[in-house]
Amino acid sequence: MPVSLQQQGQQTTNQPPVKLMAPGGTREMALAALEHGADSVFVGPLGWSRRPKTDELNDAEMAEVIDYGVHHDKDIRVAINVMPSPREMGLFLNKIEQFAKLGAQGVMLCDPGCMREVRARFPELEIHVSVTAGLFNREDIHLYRELGADIVVIPYRWGQTEIEQIRDQAGVQLEAFLFQTPERSWICPGRCYASSFFHIAHKNDASDKDHFIGSASRGGSCHRICRSDWQMMQGAENLGGELFAERQNLKASPELLLWELPRYLELGVSRLKIPGRERSVELVVAITAFYRRVVDQIQRGNHDLSGFEAEWQALKGRWEGEKRKRDSKQVRLALAG
Ligand code: SF4
Repeated sequence: MPVSLQQQGQQTTNQPPVKLMAPGGTREMALAALEHGADSVFVGPLGWSRRPKTDELNDAEMAEVIDYGVHHDKDIRVAINVMPSPREMGLFLNKIEQFAKLGAQGVMLCDPGCMREVRARFPELEIHVSVTAGLFNREDIHLYRELGADIVVIPYRWGQTEIEQIRDQAGVQLEAFLFQTPERSWICPGRCYASSFFHIAHKNDASDKDHFIGSASRGGSCHRICRSDWQMMQGAENLGGELFAERQNLKASPELLLWELPRYLELGVSRLKIPGRERSVELVVAITAFYRRVVDQIQRGNHDLSGFEAEWQALKGRWEGEKRKRDSKQVRLALAG
C-alpha cells in the first residue's frame, strides 16, 4: 500500500477548500449528486457536449438544475465543449447566454476561437479548458490563459510529476480528474477523430443544430471504438502482413484514484472532477459520497486513507463493470450502423 504524506511527515498547506465536482448526465443524477456531497456538477445541453442524448439535458432540465444551484449555494458548470460550424456560432453563443442568465457560473469549452469570443461577451463566467482541448504542455496552458481561460483540466494521462512541473507557472486554476489512465493509453482526448469514420450521419434539429452522429467534437457522441477488440496486423494482410495481436483494445480503461489525492490538494488543485455522465445515478451518488468523505478527511489534515481502501476497490469494480457494459453497447451500435 502506498505511504501517505502524513506518514512521510509532510504538512498540510493552507489551501482554500477544493471543490468536488460531479457529473450530471441526467437531471436526476445532477440533483442527487448535489444532495450527496458535490459542491458543483457539470451538465451538458442536448447536442452540445459530446455525449449521446441520454446523457445530456434538455433546456427545461438545464434550467431546473441551474435553478437548484442558485438556491442551494451550489455551482453549476455547463459542458459545451464542441466545435461549432460557422452557421452554428449564433446558436452556440445564444445557448451560453441563456445558461449564464439563469445563473450558471462557468462553461467548459474546447475550441480556442470560441473561448476568446465567450470571454469577451460573458466576463462573469468562469471558463474551463475542457480536457477535450487536448492540452499537451505548459505552453498550451499559457495560450488558453491568454484566450481568457480561468481553469484548465489537467489531462488524465498526466500524473503528479507533470502537475508539479506546471503548477507554479500555469497562471490558472487546476482541475484534476479523479481518474487516470494507465501509462499505455496516450491517446489524446479531443484530438481523436476515429469514431467519425464509423457511421457518421447528420441530423438537424428544429433550431438547425447539426448533431453529427458519430463525431463527438461536432456534437454527436463518440462510438468508443477504441474500447473494442481489434485484430492488429503488421503490414497489409494481402501483402503478407503478419498478425501480431488477436484481440487488442486501443485504450486502457481509466481507474479511479485514491492515494494521489493528498498530494493533489497539496499541489493546489482547486477542483476535483468525478467523470461519468454515462454511469448510473446510483453509482455516481456512491462515488460522490465516497470522495466527499475522502476530501473532507484530507482537508482536516488526516492523510491516512487506508480506511477507504476496501470501499474504493469495490467502487472501482462497479465503475469498470458499468463502463465495459456501456462501451460494448456503443461499439455494437456503431459497427452495426
Ligand atoms: S474513439 Fe476512444 S479515444 Fe477516440 S474519442 Fe472516442 S473514446 Fe476517445
